[in-house]
Amino acid sequence: MPDAPRPDTPRPDTQLPDELHKSIVDNLADGVYFVEPDRTIRYWNRGAERLTGYQAPDLVGRHCYDNILAHVDAQGNSLCHSTCPLAASMSDGESRDVTIWLRHREGYRKPVRVRTAAVRDEAGAIIGGVETFSDASAVVRAAEAADRARLEALTDELTGLPNRRMFDAALRGRLENLGRYGWQFGLLVVDIDLFKAVNDQFGHAFGDAVLAGVAKTLQGAVRGGDMVARWGGEEFAVLVEASDVAGLGETAERVRALVGQSEVRHDNKVVTVQVSVGGSLASRDDSAEVLFERVDGALYSAKRDGRNRIAIVE
Ligand code: GH3
Ligand code: MG
Ligand code: MG
Repeated sequence: MPDAPRPDTPRPDTQLPDELHKSIVDNLADGVYFVEPDRTIRYWNRGAERLTGYQAPDLVGRHCYDNILAHVDAQGNSLCHSTCPLAASMSDGESRDVTIWLRHREGYRKPVRVRTAAVRDEAGAIIGGVETFSDASAVVRAAEAADRARLEALTDELTGLPNRRMFDAALRGRLENLGRYGWQFGLLVVDIDLFKAVNDQFGHAFGDAVLAGVAKTLQGAVRGGDMVARWGGEEFAVLVEASDVAGLGETAERVRALVGQSEVRHDNKVVTVQVSVGGSLASRDDSAEVLFERVDGALYSAKRDGRNRIAIVE
């Protein structure tokens, strides 16, 4: 057994005040509870109240093996006195991840995915156990799968960025808000310079790594309300909250400079690419097509003027 706390072990020592901690844990959707080594429940969060129907005062101070939740496995075998995963984690320090059935306050059985871990003090001694659990009902799993599928349909696999479809929807929304409330924004298109040469020289897989690296740098180069997407090929589109050409130009310049100052390290090779950026502010009578035409024109002039530069038009 290791003496030092492991990275996957919840750490009791922290700089956060207890109250803040409690409020963070209470606001998790998952159920979370903490037991002492003799399995007396010391903490029961709101998620646990919601999932089980039992409130903290019903359970705090009781043993988790008291016949309340009565965890069973898929065969209906009781886990509380034999193969309790929380007791096992406190005994060997290993985390566990299992699906079990708890008994809701109303009596019915609910499948939950349970993760258990030992909690250690600073010296590494086990001082308790923590269990987090989430609803594993078929309907919940189906909803999660649907969310995942929806997300996959809207993100680019290589870079993890929003894809063109998601970007189009966001752009339409911004144009509507511009017309309705006057919320101004700009569009940038970022195109990697001479990317074909990267592919030719280092191979397509390396080219893919460059795209993924540039995508990460772009995400770090824009502000919270902005959106970066993979527009296609080696082109990225960015929606920028900006009310004038200077503000939009600032973001464009930051993007250009940061990409040029980054490296892609892959396959024992290091490559730096540069980008050209075209941009324009959106105006109330723009359609997405008209706005993109203007931005493409600006990008074309940045390329024509020598690449690794920005061009912003009104
Ligand atoms: P410019 O500075 O004028 O933009 O030159 P460029 O070489 O970047 O432009 P060009 O349009 O000639 O080439 C773009 C290249 O991007 C060609 C294409 O093979 C490559 N590309 C597009 N999508 C991908 C991809 O998903 N992965 C890789 N590795 N390459 C891609
Ligand atoms: Mg291109
Ligand atoms: Mg290019």
